[in-house]
Amino acid sequence: MKSNSTTTQEPQQVCDLCGSGQHQVFATKGRGGSKLTTVICNECGMVYTNPRPTERENAEFYHKNYWGAYKNQSMPDERFFQRRLPKIRPMLTQLRPYLKPGVRVLEIGCSVGALLWSMKEVVGSTGQFTGIEPHGGHAQFAREKKGLDVHNGLLEEVSHKLKAGSFDLVVMNHVLEHTVSPTATLLTIKKLLKPHGLYVVEVPNAEAPGSRLSHFFHVAHHYCFSPRTLQRLAQKTGFKVKRVDELEGDLPKTRLNAVFEKPVAAEVDVPTKFIRDDPNERAEALRRYERWYWITAASFRKKITHWRRQRT
Ligand SMILES: [Zn+2]
Repeated sequence: MKSNSTTTQEPQQVCDLCGSGQHQVFATKGRGGSKLTTVICNECGMVYTNPRPTERENAEFYHKNYWGAYKNQSMPDERFFQRRLPKIRPMLTQLRPYLKPGVRVLEIGCSVGALLWSMKEVVGSTGQFTGIEPHGGHAQFAREKKGLDVHNGLLEEVSHKLKAGSFDLVVMNHVLEHTVSPTATLLTIKKLLKPHGLYVVEVPNAEAPGSRLSHFFHVAHHYCFSPRTLQRLAQKTGFKVKRVDELEGDLPKTRLNAVFEKPVAAEVDVPTKFIRDDPNERAEALRRYERWYWITAASFRKKITHWRRQRT
């Protein structure tokens, strides 16, 4: 892992969270030894890849390549759907308190619809469940095999088809880190939510990456959120932070799970000072995690936990 603290100025690649162009390069390699530059914003401590793709490049990747080239799965089948069920179970547990009769739910990045289908099973016929999925084959499977209302495309491509102010709950399960602009994503979600509607989001946790860093950083993840940077994103986009939790995954604290609420107009409170992740502390925390990961043989424990979860 190569790292240095060089400060560079690249006005065309500013931090999505705070708008600063100042950053330190943390790593130059990603998963599988790929050439990938990960930087830490000098202003807000956001960890992100630089350069990140354009919106068009990102859209092409998700429409055509993601599940095929990257996940080695292009046309899904029932077996694939069944394999997704244990993976979405932890998020389903988090969502249960909000799955009330008549609830209107939107899941962004729903793949074959395992979570959407499971939520529908919990609520029954009174609920309305809508999904968005960029991969054509996955969206088609969810629609045709599972009877789900799934739009094929990225949020920015299909959000105009959805009624503003119409959802009680918007869910993104390990999807926000794949977006080109989390800020734009949250602003669109806020429009789609009803007043007091909830946004439930889970992302990998930069505080506990759950793997060696060269595996954690990868081409499809443009952002690595910490509890503080995720909270700042909510503050910036005018959400009320209900909670930000670091939950147990294959290893402790690897799931960063948060609930944000859309306030009603009278409650909008723009903070004068945003929460900040110190960039030098973030860099040191990442290096410390890497050492902990090797010293405690975490990869071995992770395999066991993962295997157990798949079987329960
Ligand atoms: Zn920043």
